[in-house]
Amino acid sequence: MATIFSRIVEGEIPSYKVAESKDFYAFLDINPLARGHTLVIPKKEVDYIFDIENELYKELFTFAKTVGKAIERVIPCKRIGIIVFGLDVPHAHIHLIPINKSSDMSFDSPKLSLDKEEFEEIAAKIQKAFQDA
Ligand code: AMP
Repeated sequence: MATIFSRIVEGEIPSYKVAESKDFYAFLDINPLARGHTLVIPKKEVDYIFDIENELYKELFTFAKTVGKAIERVIPCKRIGIIVFGLDVPHAHIHLIPINKSSDMSFDSPKLSLDKEEFEEIAAKIQKAFQDA
């Protein structure tokens, strides 16, 4: 059965898309630690990120870098933190999280509750910055 993230790529489940290429897709995390918290995934379904073959793995991180740079341009923060857990959804994904201090990356912290309009506004800003890159 397809993962929830594959279903997002296929458009069967809605997402707040921020960027897309032939092989990769980026969208806002629905339970964000910060405004602009984004997930970057390969369209190809692979559970564990270290099982991705080397070329695609390098391209995934290069794509994530471009997305991270786009986030940086529109979300005030010191850095974009990168985390990979993959403990909940069995489809490799990189978390890109705008941070000002290391504790901003703690998944034990309460998540932000944003409404649809806020998600849409953030996604549109990042999408534009990505397209202008
Ligand atoms: P993990 O696999 O531990 O990296 O956690 C999965 C992440 O995916 C969590 O941060 C969830 O909030 C996020 N997530 C799960 N379902 C969705 C969805 N439908 N849209 C956006 N983010 C999601």
